[in-house]
Amino acid sequence: MAGNQRIVLAAKPQGLPRDSDFALVDGPLPQLGAGEVLVQCLWLSVDPYMRGLIDAVYPYVKPILVGDVMSGGAAGRVLESNDSSFKLGDLVEGYLGWQLYSAVPAAELRKIDLAHGPLSTALGVLGMPGLTAYFGVTEIGEPKAGQTVVVSAAAGAVGSAAGQIARIRGCRVIGIAGGAEKARHVVDDLGFDACIDYKAETDLAAALRRHCPDRINVYFDNVGGTTHDAVMTWPALDARIVICGSISQYNNPAAEQGPRRLKEFEMWRVRQQGFRAPDYRGRYKEFLADMATWVADGRMRYRETVAQGLAAAPAAFIGMLQGRNIGKQLVKLAEETGP
Ligand code: NDP
Repeated sequence: MAGNQRIVLAAKPQGLPRDSDFALVDGPLPQLGAGEVLVQCLWLSVDPYMRGLIDAVYPYVKPILVGDVMSGGAAGRVLESNDSSFKLGDLVEGYLGWQLYSAVPAAELRKIDLAHGPLSTALGVLGMPGLTAYFGVTEIGEPKAGQTVVVSAAAGAVGSAAGQIARIRGCRVIGIAGGAEKARHVVDDLGFDACIDYKAETDLAAALRRHCPDRINVYFDNVGGTTHDAVMTWPALDARIVICGSISQYNNPAAEQGPRRLKEFEMWRVRQQGFRAPDYRGRYKEFLADMATWVADGRMRYRETVAQGLAAAPAAFIGMLQGRNIGKQLVKLAEETGP
């Protein structure tokens, strides 16, 4: 084993992060404490919430400060364990950070069974983004068969799964995604009923009216901003808005404030609710029982965009924030077979 290479935050980004906001540094291997597990990271997860961690927006998660290792999800292999529930060679997932090796308390790790899918899926369709989509749709949006569901960032990790779950529930699902290639993928590969390329539309509200003749019963909102405004011109009675994320605002230093179109909320009796994926971490088994079945029988399709090597992680992060990914953005560090 060599030293431990890590990606640290070198400077606090203003707006969209730049390469120079990150640095690849070498350090010693982590020391294993009591009850901890040493993991070799094989796959890194690249997630929008990490931009929020840098801005310290989450009251319940430790922020990433300048000099800190980029904290984020990762999957890897156990090299050493001070806890009887993990042994050498086990595959695990947890918040391991953007580094080659990580020592974490055993209680913070989830064991991965490859019978469900390849290790990378533990960070995507069968991991946190899939869990987010699953509970966001089934417990917050609660769409009924025959209803119209709109999903933004529909070609992304959460959106692609959310739309397919709504389809499995018998809904008519319209995606919103940036670019012709993504819109094609969402319809042809993922089976959505239609997808609006918002970058090609001058009037998103008009496009929604065209695609949703019976108005919108459920909106799974991944982006916020003006897309939310457009959806709110066309809600059905008792519509539900699932506030999953608002990525259009994450790099906006003058983020838009305050709910808008309140008159529509009143007139159409709209209910809007946010939710947090970590609240559902204790329910992975329940989620996997459905999701792994759907992946296996082909009802749930997924795509991954993979960058190679630790040094590529910052560019992958910046690219994801600009919409360069299709499906789950990952970074591959090493093969799964042996060190
Ligand atoms: P994605 O895989 O969807 O990647 C991000 C996508 O966001 C990009 O590909 C891009 O797609 C879209 N995007 C970027 N900038 C803009 C913009 N200005 N306007 C509109 N769309 C934009 O990421 P995830 O699936 O991981 O996350 C999706 C959302 O879910 C995020 O808002 C994230 O914060 C949220 N989330 C919330 C969780 C929770 O607990 N509530 C947990 C996990 C994620 P395009 O090219 O289509 O614009």
